[in-house]
Formats: sequence, structure tokens, C-alpha cells
Amino acid sequence: MRPIGSARQAGRGTSALALIVQKYGGTSVGDTERIKNVAKRCIAAQKAGHDVVVVVSAMSGETNRLLKLVSQITDRPNEREQDVVVATGEQVSIGLVALAIQAQKRKAVSFLGHQVRITTDSTFSKARIKSIDAERIVDALKKKNIVVVAGFQGQDEEGNVTTLGRGGSDTTAVALAAALKADACEIYTDVDGVYTTDPNMVPQARKLERISYEEMLELASVGAKVLQIRSVEFAMKYKVPLWVKSSFTDDPGTLVCEEDAAMEDVLVSGIAYDKNESKIAIRGVPDVPGVAAKIFGALDEQSIVVDLIVQNVSKDGRTDVTFTVGKADLAKTKDVVKKIAKAVKAEGVETDDHVSKVSIVGVGMRNHSGVAAKMFKVLAGAGVNVQMISTSEIKVSCVIHSNYTELAVRSLHTAFGLDKPESGAVAEVVSLKG
Ligand code: ADP
Ligand code: ASP
Ligand code: MG
Repeated sequence: MRPIGSARQAGRGTSALALIVQKYGGTSVGDTERIKNVAKRCIAAQKAGHDVVVVVSAMSGETNRLLKLVSQITDRPNEREQDVVVATGEQVSIGLVALAIQAQKRKAVSFLGHQVRITTDSTFSKARIKSIDAERIVDALKKKNIVVVAGFQGQDEEGNVTTLGRGGSDTTAVALAAALKADACEIYTDVDGVYTTDPNMVPQARKLERISYEEMLELASVGAKVLQIRSVEFAMKYKVPLWVKSSFTDDPGTLVCEEDAAMEDVLVSGIAYDKNESKIAIRGVPDVPGVAAKIFGALDEQSIVVDLIVQNVSKDGRTDVTFTVGKADLAKTKDVVKKIAKAVKAEGVETDDHVSKVSIVGVGMRNHSGVAAKMFKVLAGAGVNVQMISTSEIKVSCVIHSNYTELAVRSLHTAFGLDKPESGAVAEVVSLKG
């Protein structure tokens, strides 16, 4: 089995100009007309002389439908079996895309994750890709096929079906591009690039021509679902030229690439929000060494990813520990935390899933002070109470009441000069063209 990034010696001996991995998301394959459109686009790329590998997601709404079926059976699903169910969405779309390509008189072959040996760890529902055996794809390309691969899924060392977490088809595409040493990875979606914030929430959002891997990584990690975080990690690690484009227009899209000096001139390049968080507070925790390790160790054992953590100043030997996890993990987290709270003799556990996280991101923050202070001032001006704060070198995140998400994002977008020029914003932003 070849590790990612060291494959590709078997192939590339074709006369094609380049090898391109294209990925089409749920909306792009949302109905059969759209699937025919995807086929047309793949064929156009092949006609231009490229070898084409296409990764597809489940048809839009399908993964949610499958998850709902699971939830109608149980609210504590066995994750192995849940993955067996939710991985099926992609099987339908790869078959349909391959058929649509064949109907347009080109050769195509579809593969499920295990058929091209996308091997992952065994963390069901959020598995990580460990290796890909690119040989079967290379063989199929040599036979002039357009190769259609199911996104979002793989298999672990024992042959169990695994899925890569929501948005995981992006990661399949970039990992394949790395394994195949592709010349480009193009993520086709329902917007024509990466914007300063979600254009579906803020119409004044501006499309970026380029964004650095690092900023995209932060934006993805704080909720900009246009790319799954792991896909950006792979792209950054293996230097995959990564494009985000629309499957409905010919706009050149956004290139995610290495940072350059011009990017540092921009204070804040993007704003993201995440409505998928929930907050857990353990009240009156005895303030003695080892308690935090117990709480978060137990959560880690259950593969629960904890995001923000705040511990209050202790009073009378007790403190409050508050943290956030994804909404999908809330039930599991409550089970774990209640047990631990009892064991460490804490006073109680409270949960709140009416929270969201709003974040500002920009490499320019490294060299400019006062960005966080400005963020708090803007939120205060909009009447938004900040419940939790976390910062990194190029990011500031605030947890707020979910009712104020839009207001917060819009206010920050305007205040940091990100609105489109037409809408009258000040030209505080330096062009990314440099
Ligand atoms: P796909 O189904 O193609 O994978 P997704 O729904 O996962 O598409 O991602 C595309 C969506 O990401 C857009 O419709 C948009 O609402 C959202 N989005 C969030 N933040 C951004 C951003 N900064 N730039 C572009 N799109 C964003
Ligand atoms: N179908 C999966 C999801 O809806 C994977 C993806 O679309 O990227 O999350
Ligand atoms: Mg997606």
C-alpha cells in the first residue's frame, strides 16, 4: 500500500497534458439534469487533453436523509453501522455519473472507496485517510476512462466501511490528487469560489481570487463549510494546487495556495460562523490537579472533539469548566460528563445548544495589534454578548447566542472593510492581487 503523496510512479505515461481531479458536491449532482451537466464538464476536460478523475458526493439532501433514518431507529447509533448506512449515498451518484458519461459516448468507470483502497483509521463517522492505492485508477485512466470515485468513504484495516465526516468528499478529492500527483484539484460547488464570508448569508461578501492554505485552514476549522478542513490540510502538506469553482458557471474561481507578502497586508481576510456547536458547563468542579485531565481524557477516549475550553477563576476551592463540542456529539458528551461530574463530586452539569461561534481570520493579524479588541467592540456595538473567546495567531473566535449569528457576521464583515465596494464599504482591504 502506498502512502499518500508517494504514489503515481505507475502512471502519468499518457500523452495527456495534465491529470486533474474534479470534485462535484451534492448540489452539483442534485438531480439527473445536473448529473448530465457534470458528465459534460468532465468530458470537456478530457477533450482538452487531460486525464480526469471525478469525485462525487451524494445527491443533495441524501446524507441528511440517511442520517435521519438512523436517528429514527436510535439516538445512540453504533457508529460502524451508521457509516454502513450513510456511505450508500455516494454509491448512487458515482453510478449515475458514470452512466451519464457513457451516455455521452465516453468511457467511464466508477469505484467505491474500498475498490481503490482508500484506507482509513477506524474512527467511524470521522475517519482519517491513511493511504490510497492509486494503481487501479491509473490503469483505468490508461484505458481512456474518466474515473469516477465515491467521495466521503473508505475502509479501515479490517475492511469495515468508514466515512470521513461531513464534507468529506473534499478530502477524498484532495487526497486522491496528492496520491496521484495530480496537476490540479478542482472543487466544484454551488458558489463560484471562496468568499470573504458565506455569500448565502451576506450578499455583500466578496469573492477572493486567492487565499493562503493557512487562512483557508483556519476558516474551514471555524465553520466555513466550503472546504472540509482535512482537505485543506492535505492540500497544504502535499502542495496540491486547489481550486474552488462553480459547477454552473465558467468563473475561474478561487485558488488556495502558498501565502505571499501581499496577503499579509490584509487584516482580516474572512469571517466564518459555526452553528453546529453546543456548550457544556460543569459547575463547581473541585479545583485540584488532575480533574481537567479526567474530564477531557474521558471525552477523548470516546473520540469526541472538544473545541473551546474555559475554566473560571476558582472560588472556595471550586471552579466552573465550560467547553464546546459539535451538536452531533452532545448526547454522547452528556453521558460521559455526567459520569465524570459524579466521580469528581462536581455540583452539576448544564448544556446549551443555542450557541454559535463567529470567527475572524487573517494572516495580517500576525503583524497588527488590536484586531481582537476591534472585534469585541463591534459585537458590543451590535448588542451581542460574548460568552467564550479563543484566539490563535491568525484567528479570533467568539461564542455567542445563536440568534445573533447573522447580525454578528454582518457587522464584523462591514467593520473590517470586507463588503463589496459597490455597497459603499471603505477600501481598507488591499487587493489580494498585490
Ligand atoms: P458541496 O455540497 O458542493 O460540497 P457545501 O454546501 O459543502 O457544498 O459548501 C458550499 C457552501 O459553503 C456554499 O453554498 C456557502 O453557503 C458555504 N460557505 C460558507 N462559507 C463560505 C465562504 N467563505 N465562501 C464560499 N462559500 C462559503
Ligand atoms: N455526502 C457527504 C456529506 O453530505 C460528504 C460530502 O458531501 O462531502 O457530508
Ligand atoms: Mg461540501
